[in-house]
Amino acid sequence: MDLKIVKVEELPLVGPAYAKKLNKLGIHSVWDLFHHVPSRFLDFSKSSPINKLEIDEVTTIHGTITSFVNTYTKSGKTMQIVTIEDVSGKVEAIWFNQIYLSNVLRKGTEISLAGKLTWMARKKVIIAPEYEIVHAGQDQIHTGHLISIYPETAGITSKWIRRKIYDAWKRYKNDFEEFLPEATLKKYDLVSFETAISDAHFPKSLKEFERAKYRLAFNELLTLHIRNIERKKKWNKNKAAAKLKIDKIKIHEFIKKLPFELTSSQKKVVDEILIDLEKNIAMNRLLEGDVGSGKTIVAAIAAYSSFLNGKKTVFMAPTQILASQHFNTLSKLFGKNLKIGIFTSAKKSIGDFDILIGTHTLLNKSIDMKEVALFVIDEQHKFGVEQRNLLVKKSIAPHVLAMTATPIPRSVALTFFGDLDLSILDEMPKGRQKINTWVVPEIKREDGFKWIHDNIKKEKIQAYIVCPLIDESITETMQDVKAANKEYEKLQTKFIDLKIGLMHGKLKANEKESVINKFKNGEIEILVTTAVVEVGIDIPNATIMVIEAADRFGLASLHQLRGRVGRGDKKSYCLLMTENESEKTQIRLNAMTKYNSGFKLAELDLSMRGPGEIYGTHQSGMPELKIADWSDVNLIKNSREVAQTMVK
Ligand code: ADP
Ligand code: MG
Repeated sequence: MDLKIVKVEELPLVGPAYAKKLNKLGIHSVWDLFHHVPSRFLDFSKSSPINKLEIDEVTTIHGTITSFVNTYTKSGKTMQIVTIEDVSGKVEAIWFNQIYLSNVLRKGTEISLAGKLTWMARKKVIIAPEYEIVHAGQDQIHTGHLISIYPETAGITSKWIRRKIYDAWKRYKNDFEEFLPEATLKKYDLVSFETAISDAHFPKSLKEFERAKYRLAFNELLTLHIRNIERKKKWNKNKAAAKLKIDKIKIHEFIKKLPFELTSSQKKVVDEILIDLEKNIAMNRLLEGDVGSGKTIVAAIAAYSSFLNGKKTVFMAPTQILASQHFNTLSKLFGKNLKIGIFTSAKKSIGDFDILIGTHTLLNKSIDMKEVALFVIDEQHKFGVEQRNLLVKKSIAPHVLAMTATPIPRSVALTFFGDLDLSILDEMPKGRQKINTWVVPEIKREDGFKWIHDNIKKEKIQAYIVCPLIDESITETMQDVKAANKEYEKLQTKFIDLKIGLMHGKLKANEKESVINKFKNGEIEILVTTAVVEVGIDIPNATIMVIEAADRFGLASLHQLRGRVGRGDKKSYCLLMTENESEKTQIRLNAMTKYNSGFKLAELDLSMRGPGEIYGTHQSGMPELKIADWSDVNLIKNSREVAQTMVK
């Protein structure tokens, strides 16, 4: 039976109400329930006769209830005193405020208890132990061995989940047929699927549990890999809209005329892309490079070769501001030689174009894809997978170049974007200076702002002030806008001699554009913004970045924000404001002062905050792993190997 299509509410004693609660834990099917892996265990494996119980040691005992007394404590709580006897002796177990137990723990009932013997009023008793009624011929589930503790939610306890999984296991254990060959299990030291499910919930030792979890994590990654490989196969059936001829001489000339020399990393990546463009299978490539590593020019070179073949390029950016910025950059770069168009909900000047730049509204417009040889998606993590997939469905597809600054380690990117080929820009353009970063505690705040003020006056530079996201969702809320507004007003009274600007997502497109232009022209000296606004903005004269409540951001996000300064040859600064003085925060934020590489910081964040925080759906468009862990490089590699042989 396919347990993925058996809904949890079909299990005995799980009605719609419980199902709803389980849904909150991400559990919809019986399959999901079995893959709800314990977060820890209580060790109730030690058992002993009652007369051998020792103080403060967690122990399981077996016995018969010989009396049940309901009474009151001095403070007026009810107290349930239950006496249990075995052949060696007797002991009292005590609960508070659990009157209903009189219906459960009746005299004569055989019972198993797990808890600690402690002193109470000069008597040795067991307080509020875990208990279960023993039925002849039935397993103990809640006592007597390692007991699973699960991620819980209101109205659903670990005990409840444990019982449901146990019952479901008895019923469905034969549905976990092994799908990997014996040799594979051996080679990668994996336990069988059936063992994995059983040992994940009812292990005899923690080692057994670890092996079980490893196998389930392996399965999880395997599924991802296989899905990617199949997607890739499907993509490779797409004929390229255009098989381009690469005019090496002209491209070389173009590169030579640039105001800078390409980094060797950029050269390598350009080569990888040009080779793809010559094929008759559509390119599907992800270009990963830290903020400021120079991805735009790489895309521009690819667009130029498309132009040399008489073909068009579409360039999609996540926001109007970025689209405008790209429009300006490319217009300047190509001069009169190429016709550049722009298409956003605010601006629609297409006409005839060689390169069309726009936001996702481009996708709604029916562009004749036959003419389009290249489709560039900038900051691709800001777009949904669905949007990317829109292109996959076509039988004739343009070459696709997706770009991202999310610092995903190669192994992770291969799992996650395994259907894409990967290019990495791992080098910064020459002459980039390290951005001087300081953590500024509350008491230094005033000094910090005075320094900013004086610097702006003296050096004629500009500054960003980023207000924190009030709730940590990816979309800006009204609260965020309010916070930015407040800061804006505050600064206006504080620095009457400085020109302050405000920018947030609730502004109209043309308002945004006008603010950015003013900032670009130097008419605004301090720009107050919310955090979600405008990645990738390139204003070299803005050299100071202030991030308010910096402790609320992950390191990878801080790094991305910081990447808006340090874009020219001027010395740049980043001030991380925080009121949080905890050691953990200090260590985390101090990492920003030490490291300038997005990859390094992402790695650190991974070890300090856990993968969900960085690679969660929020920031990168990647789903969270349930069991496996993005930091387990070996597991990722092994499961990938197996996926490849399986698909073959
Ligand atoms: P990102 O990778 O973040 O999109 P951009 O493409 O916006 O970065 O590039 C950042 C800045 O670096 C731009 O001003 C760009 O002109 C400049 N740049 C790109 N490549 C080089 C290079 N090889 N040498 C010097 N400057 C470069
Ligand atoms: Mg960019």
